[in-house]
Amino acid sequence: MRILLISDIHSNLEALEACLAAAPAHDVVVNLGDLVGYGASPNEVMERSRALGTTFVRGNHDKAVCGLMDLKDFNPVAALAAEWTREELTPENLEWLRAMPHGPVDLEGYPGVQLVHGSPIDEDDYVVTVRDAVEPLLMTPARVTFFGHTHLQGLFETNNVQLEAFRPAYKTVGQSEISEFPLRKELRYLVNPGSVGQPRDGDWRAGFAVYDSDSGVLTFCRVPYSLQSAQDRILAANLPPRLATRLAMGR
Ligand code: ZN
Repeated sequence: MRILLISDIHSNLEALEACLAAAPAHDVVVNLGDLVGYGASPNEVMERSRALGTTFVRGNHDKAVCGLMDLKDFNPVAALAAEWTREELTPENLEWLRAMPHGPVDLEGYPGVQLVHGSPIDEDDYVVTVRDAVEPLLMTPARVTFFGHTHLQGLFETNNVQLEAFRPAYKTVGQSEISEFPLRKELRYLVNPGSVGQPRDGDWRAGFAVYDSDSGVLTFCRVPYSLQSAQDRILAANLPPRLATRLAMGR
């Protein structure tokens, strides 16, 4: 069975469409949260994501936009974008965000696989470094945890003695590419498929991943998308211009 993993779309419809068009055949879709915030197409992204029949877990931007989290925890640009998104969303989409599940969530039909936005310890924690990954990896009973939040594609693995971090290596800066990584049955993993709509690893391409639970192979993917169109929408919506320029830098 193949699981399509998407996370941190952040209202970037162009990036989402590019990922879905490039995604190989899959049996289920998992969305690790932050559907909205930053970008200019929140309703379109929510409708497209909801129609995929996905298993969801909520992100901090999803919570902030629908009023479940205080905007004082956000930087000024993120808070502005969250307020704009709240105004823009249909009442039905706002209600749907409020009902999104708190992570970690067990993925039905896949024993030992769980989903969370930030960390299995706290849904709002950032797992960036090996040090950040120690507690969540050693404390959680799941063998594979899929997470997002940092917008950094990669994984952490442990044999309960050593812990290592891996980032996919790509050869180009503007083409569609994949990077395969076999997960070993005897190890435990924290896997971040990357951000669809606002990557922060210096690579502007939309990021996602596919996990084949039979072969154990995880495939990280990067795809180019209509950057200019996503940027134009942000500027036309009078959102902070920095939200448009940062997309080109992948920061
Ligand atoms: Zn995010």
